[in-house]
Amino acid sequence: MSANQGLFKNKIFLITLSFLLVIILAAGIFGMEYSSVVSENNSKNSQINALESELNDLSSKNAENESKISNQQKERDELNSKIKQLEDEVSRIKLLKAQKSSSAKPSTSKTPSGTSNNNSSTSGPKVCYLTFDDGPSDNTLKILDILKKANAKATFFVVGTSKLDYIKRIHAEGHTVALHANNHDYSKIYKSEQAYFDDLTKLSNKVKNLIGIESKIIRFPGGSSNAVSRKYNKGIMTRLTKQVQQKGYVYVDWNVDSTDASGNNISKARILSSVKNNCKGKSNICILMHDTAAKKTTVDALPEMISYLKAQGYRFDALTTSSPIFHHGLNN
Ligand SMILES: [Zn+2]
Repeated sequence: MSANQGLFKNKIFLITLSFLLVIILAAGIFGMEYSSVVSENNSKNSQINALESELNDLSSKNAENESKISNQQKERDELNSKIKQLEDEVSRIKLLKAQKSSSAKPSTSKTPSGTSNNNSSTSGPKVCYLTFDDGPSDNTLKILDILKKANAKATFFVVGTSKLDYIKRIHAEGHTVALHANNHDYSKIYKSEQAYFDDLTKLSNKVKNLIGIESKIIRFPGGSSNAVSRKYNKGIMTRLTKQVQQKGYVYVDWNVDSTDASGNNISKARILSSVKNNCKGKSNICILMHDTAAKKTTVDALPEMISYLKAQGYRFDALTTSSPIFHHGLNN
């Protein structure tokens, strides 16, 4: 081996060595960089975990608060309904008191509860309760004009018609706005007690919004004696008549049928003769009539009906919760 060859080998050895050193150095730097990224990542992950657990805590606290709020709202609703019940009771007692003090004058003969009113006593005043079901309608204002002229008060058992606004005038003129049904569909309201009361509440709210009064006087569609309801729910009238009274309502049937609903265009003469025949011997009468656009003959018969009854000694009162009771026998 020459001296030149030895020098050349040394050079190659040095170059290889420095190349290896460079590689080792680079690997070291890269390793350090990598481990710092990993540790940073780990610390971020633990921060995320801490935040997540904090979030869980907060949302469980939130759920707790929400359930507390809903409990408080329930309590408030219960209290409000109790207050309403008490207010109703107070107004009923006031009414009774007023009636008692006014009956110190000539006393109205009252029929005991649970019987139909068929009082034939001729002493004391004779009272007629004119009642109009199924309105308001195109005929309502005509009926109101006739009543005003005759200075007679009446009761309107209303349904949720598009003319419900007319109850403002009915109320303003001293007549009673009473409840019939929001939806006069037997198959719907007599399906269940719940369905009946849902419907009644809907109507009651509409009436309250218009005249500010929660009416407690009701008439069942078809009357309490209807047997049609049996088709939809056996025994429902027996249960409803009890339940409405438990809820503070007074239900009113009738003891004189004008027969204006027994067909289309029942003649004025027939309406008048039905009323005349049916009121014989009764000192308190509750006459069933209908306030719908189709019942024009009812409107036609009304002035003569009122004159006839006045001549028989009747006065015309609007129904109150303390009026004589007019109940039919139950058929379902
Ligand atoms: Zn009706």
